[in-house]
Amino acid sequence: MATKFDRYRVPPGKGLRLSDIAPDETKAFDGDKDQARARTQTLNARLEELQEALYAEGRHRVLVVLQAMDAGGKDGTIRSVFEGVNPQGVKVACFKQPTRHELAHDFLWRVHPHTPGAGEIAIWNRSHYEDVLVARVRDLVPETRWRRRYEHIVAFEKMLADEGTTIRKVFLHISKDEQRKRLQERIDDPKKRWKWHPADLDERRWWDDYQRAYEEAMAATSTEHAPWYVVPADRNWYRDLVVSELLLDALEGLGIRLPEGDPGIAGLRVT
Ligand code: ATP
Ligand code: MG
Repeated sequence: MATKFDRYRVPPGKGLRLSDIAPDETKAFDGDKDQARARTQTLNARLEELQEALYAEGRHRVLVVLQAMDAGGKDGTIRSVFEGVNPQGVKVACFKQPTRHELAHDFLWRVHPHTPGAGEIAIWNRSHYEDVLVARVRDLVPETRWRRRYEHIVAFEKMLADEGTTIRKVFLHISKDEQRKRLQERIDDPKKRWKWHPADLDERRWWDDYQRAYEEAMAATSTEHAPWYVVPADRNWYRDLVVSELLLDALEGLGIRLPEGDPGIAGLRVT
């Protein structure tokens, strides 16, 4: 069934041009900011219900991969979309610069232990995709090696899906100017200063190379079993709504039901 956010889904095996998708787009869903916020709240309540049933049922596993340029809003998205869910059963894993120990292994080694168990939702704030993004742009490994990783990623995610994991991958798409504003805010607003890394300025100089790397990586790894979505993310309220919608859609499709429990206990009195 076609859904409203299919327009944001990266089609498998086709080229992708990020410049075709406006980061400040807010049109696919009707209404204004207030309506969108209200709708996100409604979806949030539904997510709470479904997550509880998912946990109780202990049958499905859900993995959400979040990628973005610096200041792209990964943290804010996690906060808003998962607001109110039971922290038991939802786990967030952040993947920063690999340690020496991690670097001593293959690139999937450090992510695998963070895949969701039965009844769990795992959210990855950055992921194994860094190993075809930053690794490529900053020349951390030779091209022949990072290029082969597309295949390994597709196979790894296929294995997870075959074993019962539902995967959704989201790229929060911001404009270069929006990034400028957000980085500037991290300097100017004392409450945001903790988020500032001098390295962000250096990374920003590689903006175009990152956009190319994202385009190619997403086109090469968006599959039926693990699709990528490019979500316009200049407007936080729109981003939260779209991510909530597509996550809910995935969960609703699983046929999750709160277990009925033992019918034999009906009428039992606890004394
Ligand atoms: P924010 O968007 O708020 O800046 P962040 O996710 O960028 O949050 P940081 O601590 O600023 O968090 O940065 C983490 C850094 O780790 C990023 O620059 C990312 O590219 C880098 N990184 C993550 N995984 C890898 C990897 N496998 N190899 C090299 N660098 C990595
Ligand atoms: Mg950063």
